Amino acid sequence: MSIYLDYQAAKPVDVRVVSEMTIYFNNKFANPSSLHCDGDEATDALIESRQKIADFINAPNTSDIIFTSSATESNNLALIGSAMRNKKKGNHIIISEIEHISILNIAKYLEREGFKVSRVPVDQFGIIKLEKLEKLINDQTILISISTASNEVGSLQPIKEISEIAAKKNVLFHTDAVASEGVIPIDVQKVPIDMMTLSSNDIYGPRGVGALYLKKGVRINPIIIGGGQERGLRSGSENVPGIVGFAKAAEIMREEIKTEVIRLKSMRDKLIQEVLSRVPNSYLNGHPEKRLPNNAHFRFDYIEGESLILSLKDQKVAAATGSACSSKTLEPSHTLISMGLLHEEAHGSLLFTLGRFTKEADLDKAIEVLPGIVKRLRLLSPLTPPELIKKYNEVND
Ligand code: PMP
Repeated sequence: MSIYLDYQAAKPVDVRVVSEMTIYFNNKFANPSSLHCDGDEATDALIESRQKIADFINAPNTSDIIFTSSATESNNLALIGSAMRNKKKGNHIIISEIEHISILNIAKYLEREGFKVSRVPVDQFGIIKLEKLEKLINDQTILISISTASNEVGSLQPIKEISEIAAKKNVLFHTDAVASEGVIPIDVQKVPIDMMTLSSNDIYGPRGVGALYLKKGVRINPIIIGGGQERGLRSGSENVPGIVGFAKAAEIMREEIKTEVIRLKSMRDKLIQEVLSRVPNSYLNGHPEKRLPNNAHFRFDYIEGESLILSLKDQKVAAATGSACSSKTLEPSHTLISMGLLHEEAHGSLLFTLGRFTKEADLDKAIEVLPGIVKRLRLLSPLTPPELIKKYNEVND
Protein backbone atom coordinates (compact mmCIF):
# COMPACT_ATOMS: atom_id res chain seq x y z
CA MET A 1 0.00 0.00 0.00
CA SER A 2 1.31 3.46 -0.90
CA ILE A 3 1.52 6.47 1.33
CA TYR A 4 -1.95 7.57 0.42
CA LEU A 5 -2.41 11.31 -0.08
CA ASP A 6 -5.36 11.23 -2.50
CA TYR A 7 -8.33 11.37 -0.14
CA GLN A 8 -10.35 13.59 -2.45
CA ALA A 9 -10.50 10.78 -5.03
CA ALA A 10 -11.49 7.99 -2.64
CA LYS A 11 -11.54 7.31 1.06
CA PRO A 12 -11.28 4.02 2.90
CA VAL A 13 -14.45 2.85 4.62
CA ASP A 14 -14.12 3.19 8.39
CA VAL A 15 -14.08 -0.25 10.09
CA ARG A 16 -16.83 0.91 12.48
CA VAL A 17 -18.98 1.53 9.39
CA VAL A 18 -18.18 -1.87 7.89
CA SER A 19 -19.15 -3.69 11.07
CA GLU A 20 -22.48 -1.83 11.27
CA MET A 21 -23.24 -2.73 7.64
CA THR A 22 -22.37 -6.42 7.74
CA ILE A 23 -25.56 -7.63 9.41
CA TYR A 24 -27.69 -5.96 6.69
CA PHE A 25 -26.09 -8.09 3.97
CA ASN A 26 -27.14 -11.46 5.37
CA ASN A 27 -29.24 -11.45 8.58
CA LYS A 28 -31.33 -8.33 8.07
CA PHE A 29 -31.43 -8.47 4.29
CA ALA A 30 -35.17 -7.95 3.74
CA ASN A 31 -36.74 -5.41 1.43
CA PRO A 32 -38.18 -2.43 3.38
CA SER A 33 -41.25 -2.54 1.13
CA SER A 34 -42.15 -6.06 2.40
CA LEU A 35 -44.98 -6.18 4.92
CA HIS A 36 -43.53 -8.96 7.12
CA CYS A 37 -41.50 -8.48 10.31
CA ASP A 38 -38.21 -8.71 8.45
CA GLY A 39 -39.36 -5.95 6.12
CA ASP A 40 -40.25 -3.88 9.19
CA GLU A 41 -36.71 -4.35 10.48
CA ALA A 42 -35.29 -3.00 7.23
CA THR A 43 -37.77 -0.11 7.34
CA ASP A 44 -36.63 0.72 10.88
CA ALA A 45 -33.01 0.75 9.70
CA LEU A 46 -33.97 3.19 6.94
CA ILE A 47 -35.86 5.46 9.35
CA GLU A 48 -32.94 5.52 11.77
CA SER A 49 -30.44 6.15 8.99
CA ARG A 50 -32.49 9.00 7.53
CA GLN A 51 -32.55 10.57 11.00
CA LYS A 52 -28.75 10.32 11.31
CA ILE A 53 -28.21 11.99 7.93
CA ALA A 54 -30.76 14.69 8.82
CA ASP A 55 -28.90 15.29 12.11
CA PHE A 56 -25.59 15.51 10.24
CA ILE A 57 -26.76 18.59 8.33
CA ASN A 58 -29.38 19.72 10.88
CA ALA A 59 -32.24 19.16 8.42
CA PRO A 60 -35.54 19.80 10.23
CA ASN A 61 -37.38 16.78 8.76
CA THR A 62 -36.18 13.27 7.98
CA SER A 63 -38.32 13.38 4.83
CA ASP A 64 -35.92 16.07 3.53
CA ILE A 65 -33.36 13.32 2.85
CA ILE A 66 -33.63 11.41 -0.45
CA PHE A 67 -31.21 8.49 -0.72
CA THR A 68 -29.57 7.99 -4.12
CA SER A 69 -26.80 5.81 -5.53
CA SER A 70 -24.10 8.52 -5.66
CA ALA A 71 -23.28 12.20 -5.63
CA THR A 72 -23.48 12.12 -9.42
CA GLU A 73 -27.06 10.87 -9.21
CA SER A 74 -27.94 13.48 -6.58
CA ASN A 75 -26.57 16.19 -8.86
CA ASN A 76 -28.64 14.81 -11.76
CA LEU A 77 -31.77 14.68 -9.63
CA ALA A 78 -31.27 18.23 -8.33
CA LEU A 79 -30.48 19.88 -11.65
CA ILE A 80 -32.57 17.90 -14.12
CA GLY A 81 -35.40 17.35 -11.63
CA SER A 82 -35.74 21.04 -10.77
CA ALA A 83 -35.18 22.25 -14.35
CA MET A 84 -37.92 19.97 -15.70
CA ARG A 85 -40.27 20.86 -12.87
CA ASN A 86 -39.81 24.61 -13.37
CA LYS A 87 -39.49 24.88 -17.14
CA LYS A 88 -42.75 26.78 -17.42
CA LYS A 89 -41.40 29.42 -15.02
CA GLY A 90 -38.11 29.94 -16.84
CA ASN A 91 -35.30 28.30 -18.74
CA HIS A 92 -32.16 29.86 -17.27
CA ILE A 93 -29.72 28.10 -14.95
CA ILE A 94 -26.53 29.45 -13.37
CA ILE A 95 -23.55 27.32 -12.39
CA SER A 96 -19.91 28.28 -11.83
CA GLU A 97 -17.02 27.79 -14.24
CA ILE A 98 -15.29 25.49 -11.76
CA GLU A 99 -18.00 22.96 -10.96
CA HIS A 100 -17.31 19.25 -10.75
CA ILE A 101 -17.45 17.49 -14.13
CA SER A 102 -20.81 15.92 -13.23
CA ILE A 103 -22.45 19.34 -12.88
CA LEU A 104 -20.69 20.66 -16.02
CA ASN A 105 -21.94 17.76 -18.10
CA ILE A 106 -25.49 17.89 -16.70
CA ALA A 107 -25.52 21.60 -17.61
CA LYS A 108 -24.46 20.73 -21.18
CA TYR A 109 -27.25 18.14 -21.34
CA LEU A 110 -29.78 20.73 -20.19
CA GLU A 111 -28.50 23.14 -22.86
CA ARG A 112 -29.19 20.48 -25.47
CA GLU A 113 -32.71 20.22 -24.00
CA GLY A 114 -33.27 23.94 -24.59
CA PHE A 115 -32.21 25.49 -21.27
CA LYS A 116 -29.78 28.42 -21.17
CA VAL A 117 -26.82 28.04 -18.83
CA SER A 118 -24.60 30.85 -17.53
CA ARG A 119 -21.27 30.04 -15.92
CA VAL A 120 -20.04 32.45 -13.22
CA PRO A 121 -16.30 33.11 -13.32
CA VAL A 122 -13.99 32.89 -10.30
CA ASP A 123 -11.14 35.08 -9.11
CA GLN A 124 -7.44 34.14 -9.03
CA PHE A 125 -8.07 32.11 -5.84
CA GLY A 126 -10.92 30.09 -7.33
CA ILE A 127 -13.66 31.96 -5.46
CA ILE A 128 -16.95 32.96 -7.12
CA LYS A 129 -17.33 36.61 -8.07
CA LEU A 130 -20.56 37.44 -6.24
CA GLU A 131 -21.24 40.67 -8.15
CA LYS A 132 -21.02 38.72 -11.44
CA LEU A 133 -23.43 36.12 -10.08
CA GLU A 134 -25.95 38.75 -9.11
CA LYS A 135 -25.78 40.38 -12.55
CA LEU A 136 -26.43 37.05 -14.29
CA ILE A 137 -29.78 36.49 -12.58
CA ASN A 138 -32.75 37.44 -14.77
CA ASP A 139 -36.49 36.84 -14.75
CA GLN A 140 -35.98 33.48 -16.49
CA THR A 141 -33.54 32.16 -13.86
CA ILE A 142 -34.90 29.10 -12.07
CA LEU A 143 -31.81 27.57 -10.47
CA ILE A 144 -28.32 28.40 -9.20
CA SER A 145 -25.99 25.47 -8.55
CA ILE A 146 -22.62 26.21 -6.98
CA SER A 147 -20.46 23.80 -4.99
CA THR A 148 -19.57 24.54 -1.38
CA ALA A 149 -15.89 24.10 -2.19
CA SER A 150 -13.68 23.26 -5.12
CA ASN A 151 -12.81 19.56 -5.06
CA GLU A 152 -9.65 20.50 -6.90
CA VAL A 153 -8.00 23.65 -5.49
CA GLY A 154 -9.95 23.51 -2.24
CA SER A 155 -11.29 27.09 -2.32
CA LEU A 156 -14.32 27.63 -0.10
CA GLN A 157 -17.22 29.42 -1.75
CA PRO A 158 -19.29 32.10 0.00
CA ILE A 159 -22.24 29.73 0.20
CA LYS A 160 -24.20 31.75 2.75
CA GLU A 161 -24.04 34.88 0.58
CA ILE A 162 -24.88 32.92 -2.58
CA SER A 163 -27.87 31.26 -0.93
CA GLU A 164 -29.11 34.61 0.37
CA ILE A 165 -28.84 36.16 -3.10
CA ALA A 166 -30.82 33.22 -4.54
CA ALA A 167 -33.47 33.44 -1.81
CA LYS A 168 -33.83 37.21 -2.32
CA LYS A 169 -34.37 36.69 -6.05
CA ASN A 170 -36.70 33.73 -5.50
CA VAL A 171 -34.43 31.34 -7.37
CA LEU A 172 -33.74 27.76 -6.21
CA PHE A 173 -30.26 27.16 -4.85
CA HIS A 174 -28.47 23.80 -5.07
CA THR A 175 -25.01 23.09 -3.71
CA ASP A 176 -22.79 20.07 -4.23
CA ALA A 177 -21.25 19.68 -0.77
CA VAL A 178 -19.19 16.58 -1.53
CA ALA A 179 -15.76 18.19 -1.26
CA SER A 180 -16.48 19.85 2.08
CA GLU A 181 -18.95 17.57 3.86
CA GLY A 182 -16.31 15.76 5.92
CA VAL A 183 -14.33 18.83 6.90
CA ILE A 184 -16.75 21.76 7.10
CA PRO A 185 -19.97 21.24 9.06
CA ILE A 186 -23.03 22.62 7.32
CA ASP A 187 -26.32 23.58 8.94
CA VAL A 188 -29.16 23.85 6.43
CA GLN A 189 -31.23 25.79 8.96
CA LYS A 190 -28.62 28.55 9.08
CA VAL A 191 -27.92 28.73 5.34
CA PRO A 192 -31.00 28.91 3.08
CA ILE A 193 -30.09 25.98 0.82
CA ASP A 194 -32.90 24.36 -1.20
CA MET A 195 -31.02 21.27 -2.34
CA MET A 196 -27.69 19.79 -1.30
CA THR A 197 -25.73 16.84 -2.68
CA LEU A 198 -24.01 14.51 -0.21
CA SER A 199 -21.85 11.47 -0.78
CA SER A 200 -21.24 8.56 1.59
CA ASN A 201 -17.64 7.75 0.67
CA ASP A 202 -16.53 11.32 1.28
CA ILE A 203 -17.23 10.79 4.99
CA TYR A 204 -15.66 7.29 5.09
CA GLY A 205 -18.86 5.42 4.25
CA PRO A 206 -19.28 2.91 1.39
CA ARG A 207 -19.39 3.87 -2.28
CA GLY A 208 -22.64 3.48 -4.19
CA VAL A 209 -24.68 5.65 -1.80
CA GLY A 210 -25.43 9.34 -1.79
CA ALA A 211 -28.22 11.63 -0.75
CA LEU A 212 -29.99 14.76 -1.83
CA TYR A 213 -31.21 17.12 0.85
CA LEU A 214 -34.44 18.60 -0.45
CA LYS A 215 -35.90 21.41 1.63
CA LYS A 216 -39.55 20.92 2.57
CA GLY A 217 -41.78 22.51 -0.06
CA VAL A 218 -39.22 22.42 -2.90
CA ARG A 219 -40.80 20.54 -5.81
CA ILE A 220 -38.73 18.61 -8.35
CA ASN A 221 -39.44 15.87 -10.89
CA PRO A 222 -37.99 12.37 -10.46
CA ILE A 223 -35.42 11.20 -12.97
CA ILE A 224 -35.76 7.51 -12.09
CA ILE A 225 -39.31 6.21 -12.30
CA GLY A 226 -40.48 2.90 -10.82
CA GLY A 227 -41.91 1.59 -7.57
CA GLY A 228 -42.15 4.99 -5.91
CA GLN A 229 -39.52 4.62 -3.18
CA GLU A 230 -37.99 7.77 -1.64
CA ARG A 231 -41.24 9.75 -1.86
CA GLY A 232 -41.48 8.83 -5.53
CA LEU A 233 -38.33 10.84 -6.24
CA ARG A 234 -35.93 7.94 -6.53
CA SER A 235 -37.49 4.60 -7.33
CA GLY A 236 -35.65 1.33 -6.89
CA SER A 237 -35.24 -1.00 -3.90
CA GLU A 238 -33.25 0.80 -1.25
CA ASN A 239 -29.60 -0.14 -0.72
CA VAL A 240 -30.15 -0.82 2.99
CA PRO A 241 -26.59 -1.95 3.93
CA GLY A 242 -25.13 1.03 2.05
CA ILE A 243 -27.57 3.49 3.64
CA VAL A 244 -26.89 2.08 7.13
CA GLY A 245 -23.15 2.49 6.47
CA PHE A 246 -23.60 6.04 5.19
CA ALA A 247 -25.59 6.92 8.33
CA LYS A 248 -22.99 5.39 10.65
CA ALA A 249 -20.28 7.33 8.83
CA ALA A 250 -22.28 10.55 9.32
CA GLU A 251 -22.77 9.79 13.00
CA ILE A 252 -19.02 9.25 13.51
CA MET A 253 -18.17 12.35 11.49
CA ARG A 254 -20.53 14.49 13.53
CA GLU A 255 -18.78 13.42 16.72
CA GLU A 256 -15.24 13.64 15.44
CA ILE A 257 -15.21 16.46 12.90
CA LYS A 258 -13.91 19.14 15.28
CA THR A 259 -10.84 17.25 16.44
CA GLU A 260 -10.26 15.79 12.99
CA VAL A 261 -10.21 19.21 11.36
CA ILE A 262 -7.69 20.61 13.84
CA ARG A 263 -5.36 17.70 13.06
CA LEU A 264 -5.86 17.98 9.30
CA LYS A 265 -5.27 21.73 9.25
CA SER A 266 -2.04 21.43 11.16
CA MET A 267 -0.76 18.70 8.81
CA ARG A 268 -1.91 20.63 5.73
CA ASP A 269 -0.14 23.79 6.89
CA LYS A 270 3.08 21.92 7.57
CA LEU A 271 2.93 20.32 4.12
CA ILE A 272 2.30 23.65 2.39
CA GLN A 273 5.03 25.45 4.28
CA GLU A 274 7.64 22.72 3.75
CA VAL A 275 6.94 22.26 0.04
CA LEU A 276 6.96 25.99 -0.72
CA SER A 277 10.18 26.53 1.22
CA ARG A 278 12.03 23.47 -0.10
CA VAL A 279 11.06 23.63 -3.79
CA PRO A 280 12.07 26.73 -5.77
CA ASN A 281 9.48 28.19 -8.18
CA SER A 282 6.60 26.46 -6.43
CA TYR A 283 3.23 28.04 -5.68
CA LEU A 284 0.06 27.23 -3.80
CA ASN A 285 -3.09 27.14 -5.95
CA GLY A 286 -6.33 28.30 -4.37
CA HIS A 287 -6.87 30.60 -1.44
CA PRO A 288 -4.24 30.59 1.35
CA GLU A 289 -6.85 30.66 4.15
CA LYS A 290 -10.28 30.07 2.64
CA ARG A 291 -9.45 26.51 1.69
CA LEU A 292 -10.43 22.97 2.65
CA PRO A 293 -8.52 21.87 5.78
CA ASN A 294 -7.23 18.77 3.99
CA ASN A 295 -6.22 20.25 0.63
CA ALA A 296 -2.74 21.25 -0.55
CA HIS A 297 -2.68 22.03 -4.29
CA PHE A 298 0.65 23.11 -5.76
CA ARG A 299 2.00 24.33 -9.04
CA PHE A 300 5.60 23.90 -10.12
CA ASP A 301 7.14 25.78 -13.01
CA TYR A 302 8.70 23.94 -15.97
CA ILE A 303 7.35 20.42 -15.31
CA GLU A 304 4.24 18.35 -15.96
CA GLY A 305 2.00 17.17 -13.12
CA GLU A 306 1.67 13.71 -14.70
CA SER A 307 5.46 13.13 -14.60
CA LEU A 308 5.43 14.20 -10.96
CA ILE A 309 2.67 11.72 -10.14
CA LEU A 310 4.55 8.89 -11.86
CA SER A 311 7.80 9.72 -10.07
CA LEU A 312 5.95 9.88 -6.74
CA LYS A 313 4.36 6.53 -7.65
CA ASP A 314 7.88 5.04 -7.95
CA GLN A 315 8.48 6.24 -4.38
CA LYS A 316 5.14 4.69 -3.28
CA VAL A 317 3.45 8.05 -2.68
CA ALA A 318 -0.09 8.35 -4.11
CA ALA A 319 -1.12 11.86 -5.17
CA ALA A 320 -3.15 13.46 -7.98
CA THR A 321 -2.86 16.26 -10.49
CA GLY A 322 -6.40 17.45 -9.79
CA SER A 323 -9.87 15.96 -9.94
CA ALA A 324 -9.80 12.16 -10.34
CA CYS A 325 -12.96 12.33 -12.45
CA SER A 326 -11.18 14.39 -15.14
CA SER A 327 -7.68 12.91 -14.80
CA LYS A 328 -7.80 10.82 -18.00
CA THR A 329 -8.17 13.86 -20.28
CA LEU A 330 -5.13 15.71 -21.59
CA GLU A 331 -6.92 19.05 -21.33
CA PRO A 332 -5.63 21.41 -18.64
CA SER A 333 -7.89 21.72 -15.61
CA HIS A 334 -10.93 23.92 -16.30
CA THR A 335 -10.66 25.20 -12.72
CA LEU A 336 -7.08 26.44 -13.09
CA ILE A 337 -7.82 28.03 -16.48
CA SER A 338 -10.82 29.81 -14.97
CA MET A 339 -8.53 31.12 -12.21
CA GLY A 340 -6.44 32.76 -14.93
CA LEU A 341 -3.52 30.33 -15.17
CA LEU A 342 -1.85 29.79 -18.54
CA HIS A 343 -2.07 26.29 -20.04
CA GLU A 344 1.59 25.54 -19.28
CA GLU A 345 1.13 26.72 -15.68
CA ALA A 346 -1.99 24.62 -15.24
CA HIS A 347 -0.14 21.49 -16.42
CA GLY A 348 2.42 21.63 -13.59
CA SER A 349 -0.06 20.90 -10.79
CA LEU A 350 0.03 18.47 -7.91
CA LEU A 351 -2.75 17.79 -5.43
CA PHE A 352 -2.26 16.22 -2.01
CA THR A 353 -5.43 15.54 -0.02
CA LEU A 354 -5.21 14.29 3.54
CA GLY A 355 -7.68 12.33 5.61
CA ARG A 356 -8.62 10.49 8.80
CA PHE A 357 -5.82 7.94 8.50
CA THR A 358 -3.01 10.22 7.29
CA LYS A 359 -0.04 10.21 9.66
CA GLU A 360 2.70 12.81 10.17
CA ALA A 361 5.18 10.19 8.91
CA ASP A 362 3.29 10.01 5.58
CA LEU A 363 3.74 13.74 5.10
CA ASP A 364 7.39 13.54 6.10
CA LYS A 365 7.98 10.99 3.34
CA ALA A 366 6.24 13.16 0.72
CA ILE A 367 8.17 16.23 1.88
CA GLU A 368 11.43 14.27 1.78
CA VAL A 369 11.08 12.89 -1.76
CA LEU A 370 9.30 15.74 -3.57
CA PRO A 371 12.13 18.33 -3.87
CA GLY A 372 14.48 15.73 -5.41
CA ILE A 373 11.84 14.58 -7.89
CA VAL A 374 11.07 18.15 -8.98
CA LYS A 375 14.78 18.85 -9.39
CA ARG A 376 15.38 15.70 -11.48
CA LEU A 377 12.44 16.47 -13.76
CA ARG A 378 13.51 20.08 -14.15
CA LEU A 379 17.06 19.11 -15.03
CA LEU A 380 15.57 16.99 -17.84
CA SER A 381 13.05 19.60 -18.99
CA PRO A 382 13.86 21.80 -22.00
CA LEU A 383 11.66 24.50 -20.40
CA THR A 384 13.84 25.01 -17.32
CA PRO A 385 15.79 28.29 -17.64
CA PRO A 386 19.62 28.10 -17.43
CA GLU A 387 19.68 30.21 -14.22
CA LEU A 388 17.60 27.63 -12.37
CA ILE A 389 19.72 24.76 -13.71
CA LYS A 390 22.82 26.67 -12.54
CA LYS A 391 21.25 27.20 -9.12
CA TYR A 392 20.45 23.51 -8.81
CA ASN A 393 24.00 22.54 -9.87
CA GLU A 394 25.56 25.02 -7.42
CA VAL A 395 23.63 23.46 -4.53
CA ASN A 396 25.01 20.10 -5.67
CA ASP A 397 28.65 21.30 -5.52
N1 PMP B 1 -19.13 16.19 -6.77
C1 PMP B 1 -17.88 16.36 -6.33
C2 PMP B 1 -17.49 17.70 -5.80
C3 PMP B 1 -16.96 15.31 -6.36
O1 PMP B 1 -15.70 15.50 -5.93
C4 PMP B 1 -17.37 14.07 -6.88
C5 PMP B 1 -16.39 12.93 -6.97
N2 PMP B 1 -16.06 12.43 -5.70
C6 PMP B 1 -18.69 13.94 -7.33
C7 PMP B 1 -19.54 15.02 -7.26
C8 PMP B 1 -19.20 12.65 -7.91
O2 PMP B 1 -19.16 11.64 -6.97
P1 PMP B 1 -19.49 10.13 -7.41
O3 PMP B 1 -18.46 9.77 -8.44
O4 PMP B 1 -19.33 9.36 -6.14
O5 PMP B 1 -20.85 10.10 -7.94
